[in-house]
Amino acid sequence: MRTVLITGGSRGIGAAAVRAFAREGWRVAFLYRSSENAAHALAAETGACPIPCDVGDPARVKEACALAVRQLGHIDALINNAGVAQQKLFTDITDEDWQRMLAVNLSGAFYVTRAVLPGMISRKSGRIVNVSSIWGRVGASCEVHYSAAKAGLIGLTKALAKEVGPSGVTVNCVCPGVIETDMLDSFSQADLEALSDDTPLGRLGTPQDVAACLLWLCGEGAAFVTGQTLGVDGGFGW
Ligand code: NAP
Repeated sequence: MRTVLITGGSRGIGAAAVRAFAREGWRVAFLYRSSENAAHALAAETGACPIPCDVGDPARVKEACALAVRQLGHIDALINNAGVAQQKLFTDITDEDWQRMLAVNLSGAFYVTRAVLPGMISRKSGRIVNVSSIWGRVGASCEVHYSAAKAGLIGLTKALAKEVGPSGVTVNCVCPGVIETDMLDSFSQADLEALSDDTPLGRLGTPQDVAACLLWLCGEGAAFVTGQTLGVDGGFGW
């Protein structure tokens, strides 16, 4: 049975990915930070294994990934999805805001990938998909630290794809547009309607839209796809 580790699996896009992979017969483990009730409910619903872990803490990531390997046997696919967002003027971003943003959105993917990749290399097979953002491609006003972290994830994807391609491991990235999750809680209804109107496909994205692309990038159909950045954005922002 194919196995996948998904970070930030308790809510939003990550939870949709847990459901999508489980529905397709994958064995799933997922990391989450604080939404314990949601994580346990999702585990009961899907049979996935929930593991509490702040991806910004390298020591905890090492332990959590070792636990994931014990639960799954090995890891065929890794989805680096955990992320946080924050809207602030550039001049209001504190050292702590900056460090936290990079720790979760960029270093987290580095720590988890570092823990999982050796097993993939030794089996000469693996899929890694990083969840960046449209803002990592085009930049967002009042989200400079978020945009920088997500742009870093695109660079990590392209470079690592070249390094581990010869070992049979693909590394790709998805860049969601505006997706209806708790991450949009700070937006007003009017803002959301304006964003929807600005989207050529005429609606906001759903977590299921993104999960479908994650599943495809980990499946047979994407066997010859690596180093790519796939927009899942309804045409928004271009
Ligand atoms: P969300 O609904 O806020 O969910 C975030 C998930 O990440 C939760 O499961 C959360 O766990 C987890 N998480 C946050 N910090 C963590 C940490 N330090 N360690 C481990 N897990 C952590 O967000 P979402 O919209 O699904 O976002 C998922 C990914 O898509 C993020 O990387 C985000 O940047 C990206 N994205 C989202 C959008 C959008 O419009 N929604 C657009 C572009 C990109 P807890 O619940 O336990 O805290």
